[in-house]
Amino acid sequence: MTKQDIKNIQTLLSRPKHIVIIPHKNPDGDAMGASLALYHYLKKLDHEVRVIAPNDYPDFLKWMPADELVLKYEFSRKESDELLKNADLIFTLDFNALNRIGDMETPVKTSEAIKIMIDHHQQPDDYALYTYSEVGMSSTCEMIYHFIDKLGDLEVIDQDIATCLYTGIMTDTGSFRFASTTSTTHKVIAHLIDQGAQNAQIHNNIYDTNSFERLQLLGRALSNLTVLPKYKTAYISLTQEDLNTFNFKKGDTEGFVNYGLSVEGVVLAVIFIENQQEGIVKISLRSKGDFSVNELSRAHFEGGGHTNAAGGKSDLSLEATIEKFISILPSYKHVLSHE
Ligand code: 5GP
Ligand code: MN
Repeated sequence: MTKQDIKNIQTLLSRPKHIVIIPHKNPDGDAMGASLALYHYLKKLDHEVRVIAPNDYPDFLKWMPADELVLKYEFSRKESDELLKNADLIFTLDFNALNRIGDMETPVKTSEAIKIMIDHHQQPDDYALYTYSEVGMSSTCEMIYHFIDKLGDLEVIDQDIATCLYTGIMTDTGSFRFASTTSTTHKVIAHLIDQGAQNAQIHNNIYDTNSFERLQLLGRALSNLTVLPKYKTAYISLTQEDLNTFNFKKGDTEGFVNYGLSVEGVVLAVIFIENQQEGIVKISLRSKGDFSVNELSRAHFEGGGHTNAAGGKSDLSLEATIEKFISILPSYKHVLSHE
């Protein structure tokens, strides 16, 4: 994003506009935090703003200020299509390819609105007039902070904006422990606390609202954990039956994959989750060091993401998906062994 881009965006925002903000499908804390933070910021600048999420998301994200105003495309198609058609500006947050918003892809593509992408994933597509892409950033929320800064509006950050931004930075950095966490991240976080983000309360809202059943599902996942020392790899699988047994709800498996990565010596961790309704196996991948799960997922599982965190899917059965995964490991042995 050049200085001229910022000037152009400042000019665009100098008069009231109709603005739509879109996070990716199955939005996480960063996607929703960034969307709602930008919502509060643009509302303060007197714009008409709506956040439209492609689909529903876990309850542990539903406490952020103005969450009740978020439209879900899967439930409010007509109203959303109308908003997209009439929008002057569309912000797309925490993703960089329009196939990441499911059924919203076509209405967004055909909307004449000016598009602005703010995102930290690798290999951005070229669909936006203004692209703010930084793959080294901890989170899209940290980028929203810098975006507001570039626009000269840091003093506009109030408790609502600070709360949403804190949430996304916290969730995308694994509570400030992943390699993407920099001293700048901590300075941003310090400022957000100064502006009113209730850090202990936010951690509580996100991490300490487990149901008993979710913990039992975690127990099942951990007992399914398999380690392949030769490839410094660990994986977990959950069948649809496992999910049903423990009354699975959206978001219940969030973070499970990280347990694999916590095994001593492991640099690649994967979780395979059967989804009978969609007829797919959803895959989450995590790594340490230089091993790129973004590359692996792009090459074999129709996905992508970051070097150390990516997602993908498979249309094969759960068993066949795991077999496929194990069969490709030897081709990465030289990389996995050097870690
Ligand atoms: P998670 O494993 O938590 O679902 O996702 C890890 C990272 O990969 C996130 O940054 C997420 O946005 C991205 N990601 C997850 N699933 C996909 C996918 O199917 N395609 C792409 N391109 N990225 C994904
Ligand atoms: Mn993110």
